[in-house]
Amino acid sequence: MPREVAIIGGGAAGFFTAVNLAEKDKSCHITLYEASNKVLAKVLVSGGGRCNVTNTISDPTELIKKYPRGHDYLKPVFQEFNTSHTQDWFTSRGVPLKTEDDGRVFPLSNTSQTIYNCLTNLAQKLGVTVKLSHRLKALYYSEKKWQLVFNDEVVSADVVVLATSGNTQIYKILEHLTIPLIPPLPSLFTFNAEPHHLEALAGVSASTVLTSIKEIKKSQESGPILVTHWGYSAPAILKLSAWHARELANLNYTFTLVINWNSYDINLLRVAFQNYQLATPKDKVYSWRDHGLSKRLWQELVAKAELKEYTNWSEIGKKGIERLIQALTAFEVPITKKSTFKEEFVTAGGIDLANVELSTFQVKQHQNLYAVGELLNIDAITGGFNFQAAWSGGFLAAQSISNTK
Ligand SMILES: Cc1cc2nc3c(=O)[nH]c(=O)nc-3n(C[C@H](O)[C@H](O)[C@H](O)COP(=O)(O)OP(=O)(O)OC[C@H]3O[C@@H](n4cnc5c(N)ncnc54)[C@H](O)[C@@H]3O)c2cc1C
Repeated sequence: MPREVAIIGGGAAGFFTAVNLAEKDKSCHITLYEASNKVLAKVLVSGGGRCNVTNTISDPTELIKKYPRGHDYLKPVFQEFNTSHTQDWFTSRGVPLKTEDDGRVFPLSNTSQTIYNCLTNLAQKLGVTVKLSHRLKALYYSEKKWQLVFNDEVVSADVVVLATSGNTQIYKILEHLTIPLIPPLPSLFTFNAEPHHLEALAGVSASTVLTSIKEIKKSQESGPILVTHWGYSAPAILKLSAWHARELANLNYTFTLVINWNSYDINLLRVAFQNYQLATPKDKVYSWRDHGLSKRLWQELVAKAELKEYTNWSEIGKKGIERLIQALTAFEVPITKKSTFKEEFVTAGGIDLANVELSTFQVKQHQNLYAVGELLNIDAITGGFNFQAAWSGGFLAAQSISNTK
């Protein structure tokens, strides 16, 4: 009798588990149940339709630093299956990949359809049965098998893999099974400024800013920032939203964002400005070029420091220098709301990792029950790291199911 394996959820984690298990173990009969009428929906829209499938950072010690939730647990996982394994996996299955300057990895085709095709074609070729419009409603263990309740249908399985990401229904199922959950919250969002003092600069970016949240100690992040019509976006903001997802929710998304626009050193800046007072007293502050910012941003920040277009270095005065330093290094923005980043978001929270055996992704206390992907309390900053968690979990779960007979 083949072992019946039921995989719940036709997303990245579910498909990766199914395909890897089908490749490793011909003795399993694998059925993938998907609630909606299409599979891999997030893969298709991911990375702006290009699917940022993974990243080049592969050293587990470095890789775990990209995971606000999960980093303490993920090192052994990434020792087994990390970003370089993912790249090998896809390339050896006919999907050439390319790496962008920032380390993000995409299919060479530049379309997520290639990843979709790879996973769905393999699933079909390897005999995985995919059942659409099958929403798991209840799950219980009886007569030495898992019983799965869909709309009007009850099926039994020897092994169940939960790969649904987070939603109310699955949380209820977990509650019935007494599997502890870390309360879910959004992560990866942009900040809305109110009032938005730099709205006129929407579209302007700066590449090496330091951002922090005034109300949260040691909250500094670095990276590019983008001024948008409603506030601020790009990695220096998304990283704050991910690392401080819970604290920001507690602040009801009302807080003060502090921006150092070019990772300036305050003391070096002060010395430089004092030197200009002596060396180039007649030059206008407004026309200074060594700020490392776009001209429009520099001029706006000079204005925010209450300096005039005609103010020259000899006129700036001690107070003017301090106001300018403040605008450049500790620009304060009142934030009152969050917005979705290019429709991309992940859930912070999910199954508490203390209840999962991460060498196998088996749920502790429940025989033959596995959980993978975003349903777990694992999430990352942008860069392909969220899919990486789904691939790693799927691979290790498949390996464990195949080894446990
Ligand atoms: C717009 C967008 C863009 C993104 N871009 C990227 C990117 O480029 N790179 C990256 O690394 N990450 C990206 N992410 C994050 C990434 O998509 C997720 O982390 C990843 O898809 C999680 O995979 P998963 O299989 O765990 O969950 P999902 O992809 O959410 O799949 C879960 C599946 O389970 C199904 N399901 C739910 N409940 C049930 C049920 N009760 N019964 C049966 N089926 C059920 C759902 O319909 C869904 O198909 C993006 C996210 C979004 C929203």
